[in-house]
Amino acid sequence: MGKALIIGCGGVAGVAIQKCCQNSGVFEEICIASRTKSKCDALKAKLDGTTKTKITTAQVDADKVEELTALIEKERPDVVLNLALPYQDLTIMDACLATRTHYVDTANYEPEDTAKFEYKWQWAYKKKFEEAGITALLGSGFDPGVTGVFSAYAQKYYFDEINYIDILDCNAGDHGYPFATNFNPEINIREVSAKGSYWEEGRWVETEPMEIKKVYDFPEIGEKDMYLLHHEELESLALNIKGIKRIRFFMTFGQSYLTHLRCLENVGMTSIEPIEFEGKQIVPLQFLKAVLPDPSSLGPRTVGKTNIGCIFRGKREGKERNLYIYNVCDHQECYKEVGSQAVAYTTGVPAMIGAMLVMNGTWQKPGVYNVEEFDPTPFMDALNRFGLPWKISEAPKLVD
Ligand code: NDP
Repeated sequence: MGKALIIGCGGVAGVAIQKCCQNSGVFEEICIASRTKSKCDALKAKLDGTTKTKITTAQVDADKVEELTALIEKERPDVVLNLALPYQDLTIMDACLATRTHYVDTANYEPEDTAKFEYKWQWAYKKKFEEAGITALLGSGFDPGVTGVFSAYAQKYYFDEINYIDILDCNAGDHGYPFATNFNPEINIREVSAKGSYWEEGRWVETEPMEIKKVYDFPEIGEKDMYLLHHEELESLALNIKGIKRIRFFMTFGQSYLTHLRCLENVGMTSIEPIEFEGKQIVPLQFLKAVLPDPSSLGPRTVGKTNIGCIFRGKREGKERNLYIYNVCDHQECYKEVGSQAVAYTTGVPAMIGAMLVMNGTWQKPGVYNVEEFDPTPFMDALNRFGLPWKISEAPKLVD
């Protein structure tokens, strides 16, 4: 079918690339390009001979539009799958525009010097992508990503209108470290130390970080503490789901994680303001990232499950209806299959699916779109086929 250029070769990319290689009928060829080429070469060496997908590698600094443009012109992919960091979204989109190549990512653009989670920068590219006749698919991970697809699916098959959505992200995995993050530590800590917010009756309600705590009894996991966070899909779902009155996002955290985070915050280690250290400017959070365990090393030691899903409340034919659509993923099963823990797995699989649907034309539409703006059915089918089967409960416990 075609060729994908995958930018980044970290935890999420490692899974997405292996999933592309399990789907060689679609991904006949992939080029893995990242800042550190040796990581791309090591993954290629692991996969060559196990797949029909032809793999090449390249070095690229994705902060530089000219380098990206030259690479895309040389490789001529059908789609660029951006699995680097959110800081590179705009430069990669610019290079896609310059070369008229479809674009897919898993996280919204963030300026490096402000932890701001907003789609405004990427949505501003809509007209340019329309005029270039190419598709940008934003946020094709799990959350954002699958959570938007679940919402579109609920809207398509189960509701006349959805009034309330609670997105629940539970990671009950245990890696045995007192403190480690399951994906890029810098991005993760920026997200959880930011103020919380939710969308209600047409406006944002802001909370202090971790101010709202609930306890929820997760299917196949049990009771966990979860905290309200701001999360980027709230912004697009609030616009794209009919009749929505309130949408919130909760993530589970264990006590050890929270105690360490509070302590690190209190001593200034989570700050993104550069400081002078031994004559050099350093960002405390980037230094912290360097001393924390690499998320891609957590695979062998993480046991337990994740449960991520959406609880919908709304109406069907005049009657109230509740629904919970969710996926349960086992860390050790993921490790056995691809050598990664479930957080990278649950992001890498939908990243591959998004790239597949754009590449094969199922989800092509000139412009910039979030996942819930496309037909959810082919994505839901692909989740079942590629390792993230979902379940539906028609009588879920609600979050009060
Ligand atoms: P990692 O830090 O493990 O990997 C990032 C990769 O990007 C590394 O290979 C890194 O290269 C590369 N990279 C960073 N900067 C550049 C650059 N300037 N040029 C080229 N390559 C670069 O991150 P994760 O795999 O954990 O996360 C990847 C993305 O997935 C992030 O955007 C994250 O926000 C998103 N994500 C989305 C989720 C969702 O559900 N939607 C959930 C989890 C993550 P190097 O090896 O040299 O450092």
